[in-house]
Amino acid sequence: MEKREELYAGKAKSVFTTDNPDLMIMEFRDDTSAFDGKKMEQLDRKGMVNNKFNAFIMTALANAGIPTHFVELQSDNESVVKRLDMMPVECVVRNISAGSLCRRIGVEEGLELNPPTFELFLKNDALGDPMVNESLVETFGWAEPAHLATAKELTFKVNDVLKKMFDDADMLLVDYKLEFGVFNGEVLLGDEFSPDGCRLWDKETREKMDKDRFRQGLGGVIEAYEEVGRRLGITF
Ligand code: UDP
Repeated sequence: MEKREELYAGKAKSVFTTDNPDLMIMEFRDDTSAFDGKKMEQLDRKGMVNNKFNAFIMTALANAGIPTHFVELQSDNESVVKRLDMMPVECVVRNISAGSLCRRIGVEEGLELNPPTFELFLKNDALGDPMVNESLVETFGWAEPAHLATAKELTFKVNDVLKKMFDDADMLLVDYKLEFGVFNGEVLLGDEFSPDGCRLWDKETREKMDKDRFRQGLGGVIEAYEEVGRRLGITF
């Protein structure tokens, strides 16, 4: 696949056009950011680890019948993906309370959430990704109601697949964020799934193995990501 010009550079990934107008190359950089870009650092190996991690998860999800934009690995830190018309919202499912949920409603971290919760956030850095809901998405035309309904259904289907996958590898899938887009009228899972966009705890010790290590300055960030991968059987 021939890489052409850079279309977009986000906080941790860049996207390039290719010789095929339907396909793009997603490059995972070593850049790591938190708090809407207020904390930024380069972490050695992160681009490669997240690229391979994402390829593994996207392939597992596709095998479980969840349509995704992932096509194939292009290199150690790049993947070929379908070019989607992205919905500007983040879909978050939580199995255990943590992060912004605790801050927003004043509950302690670590409560089992039954049934799991579903939240929507508008992708807007300047506004700090405010929480929105299905009514706002429809009124402001951020996504077709039917497309949003599919995205929500797929977000929960991902939970069924990944909760079990991580549990089998002695980890708890605490919460995660997904982004969806439309390709030829079909809703596909886009963006990435890596320890940057989810919370994973060791099942026994509840030690954090995700980007909270970076957010909270706990150190050993990439070592933890690699340990998650090792437990899943990913070779980096
Ligand atoms: N998340 C993300 N990108 C964002 C916001 C959240 O990937 O812009 C992920 C985050 O890593 C966590 C989940 O979504 O796994 C829920 O995040 P939360 O709402 O608790 O916000 P945070 O505590 O990360 O500010």
